[in-house]
Amino acid sequence: MRESEIQRAVIAHWKALGLPDTLVAAIPNQNAHGQYGLKRGLPDLICIGPRGVGFIELKRDKGRPTADQLEIKTLCLTRGVDHAITYGREEPIRVLEEWGLVRRSQR
Ligand SMILES: [Mg+2]
Repeated sequence: MRESEIQRAVIAHWKALGLPDTLVAAIPNQNAHGQYGLKRGLPDLICIGPRGVGFIELKRDKGRPTADQLEIKTLCLTRGVDHAITYGREEPIRVLEEWGLVRRSQR
């Protein structure tokens, strides 16, 4: 599964099962070349929920985070901001459940 498909599936999951007063949205970095203020390593998703703001860096099953992505993660955690690097399609959904943005699914 490509990362763009994972991103689509995760946002669709939130649209279907998202809890009130939450947000999951894409951060445009991949195809927004030239936009002023872009920064390498910005995560794929911004997530707003009961814990405040969090970020998810999506990866394919065998993907690897870049040094820039790890640097952003370290910054977030240093500043007390939730940040998760997830692999595949199910892991980001588990994170959204843990962060209280979507209803927990039966499994
Ligand atoms: Mg990614």
